[in-house]
Amino acid sequence: MTITQPMPAPRTLAEYEAAKPHMIDTLGRPLVTAWCDTCRIRHFTVEPCASEAPCPTCGSTRSRCMRPSEHEAPSWHRARVARFEALCDQRESEGLPQVARWPAPAPPPDRHRPA
Ligand SMILES: [Zn+2]
Ligand SMILES: [Zn+2]
Repeated sequence: MTITQPMPAPRTLAEYEAAKPHMIDTLGRPLVTAWCDTCRIRHFTVEPCASEAPCPTCGSTRSRCMRPSEHEAPSWHRARVARFEALCDQRESEGLPQVARWPAPAPPPDRHRPA
């Protein structure tokens, strides 16, 4: 059985911050955060570092993506998110624990099913 987070996926940053101390890895152990000198943020120790997933769009190896104006973008470019997730999947397939996934949301009512 796949281990998922013990709480529903957060919808806001505040919910995420509240959930963070209770989040677990794919072996069901509490996650640990540590300051990372490479990307200069605190992140989960089981996670790949942002610097390991350079952005295919803006080329950033920092914890934030960059706008063409060289200001930090509010979120990662989509291609980088995909690269980071691929890196997590690869590590997991190599037997390294990763951040457990969020439980699947309740499926929406299926309006297309014939009655
Ligand atoms: Zn890092
Ligand atoms: Zn980027």
